[in-house]
Amino acid sequence: MIKPPPKDENPAWLRLPPGLHFRRVGKGPPGFSAFIIRGKPGPVAVINGATHGDEYEGPTVLRELVRLINPRDLRGTLVIIPVLHEEAFFAGTRGHPKDGSNLARVFPGDPRGNQAERVAHLFLNQILRHADYYLDLHSGGVLHDLLPWTGYIITGRSEIDRVQAAMAACFDDFWCWGSPYNPGRTISAAVDNGIPAVYTENRGGAGVHPDDARDLHRGLRNFLLRFGFLKGATPRLKKQSIRLTTDRHEVTIQLHHPSPAGGLFISAVAVGDKVRKRALVGTVYPLGGKTGIPVRATHPGTVISLRRKRSVATGDALASLVVLPRPR
Ligand SMILES: [Zn+2]
Repeated sequence: MIKPPPKDENPAWLRLPPGLHFRRVGKGPPGFSAFIIRGKPGPVAVINGATHGDEYEGPTVLRELVRLINPRDLRGTLVIIPVLHEEAFFAGTRGHPKDGSNLARVFPGDPRGNQAERVAHLFLNQILRHADYYLDLHSGGVLHDLLPWTGYIITGRSEIDRVQAAMAACFDDFWCWGSPYNPGRTISAAVDNGIPAVYTENRGGAGVHPDDARDLHRGLRNFLLRFGFLKGATPRLKKQSIRLTTDRHEVTIQLHHPSPAGGLFISAVAVGDKVRKRALVGTVYPLGGKTGIPVRATHPGTVISLRRKRSVATGDALASLVVLPRPR
């Protein structure tokens, strides 16, 4: 346990008896639904999906996880929130449907702010700051196709970084990306409160690929076993490609290979492809033009993100390339 909150600050849900409980948090909107699984005394893990409303892997896998866990087998407490940003989820959009506000950029939030800021404030104060471990499940959403990865913020605080690296290693079908602090994210709020946190990214596309569901389930089960929430043999973990970066620009994939024009984008590569510098990534065809505008790789690397939605506006990110080290 890294930083237990003072006893008198414990919320009511931390005093629930063993078993599976359902709680509505916030009178809403803003508000969200939480499954609270209480086992024997032990640590608290908070896991959520749909911080972005168009990402369905987390919501799907977390609903299944609630069904798979028998509270009698559990040590500690799991707070499982399949859908954190409900208004974005029901609109099928990344951010809030009215003002586009991005829940992953507004932490620690504001009780009198816009809708996303209110959700952030509610989640942080009612749930997240009582956690010992935090996991946030993302994906490429409707816009992008991703090469699944797990990531965390390199804090420079050795104990948190050690735990985060161990959490990320549990998602051993994914590659791992340690990156610098970026304010406003769920995991930024977690580490600000001394809580080790990781996120996962799956391929997206408004569906759930069966491999992603399987790999996410495996990662979550590895985490629950390795961190003592479930009893059982600790699974042997597969080697993982691990990239640690201090370059903030590297992880702002929303800015990479911006579209030179509005139009139709047709990619020339696939996620997972290794490409050379100057290789053709794809072509943007302005609607009024005869010829397309080629988009070439600005540096060599593996395609970890690729625009899936073919309609693009000027400046939309088309692809991200990262050099992935040999698994270890
Ligand atoms: Zn996301």
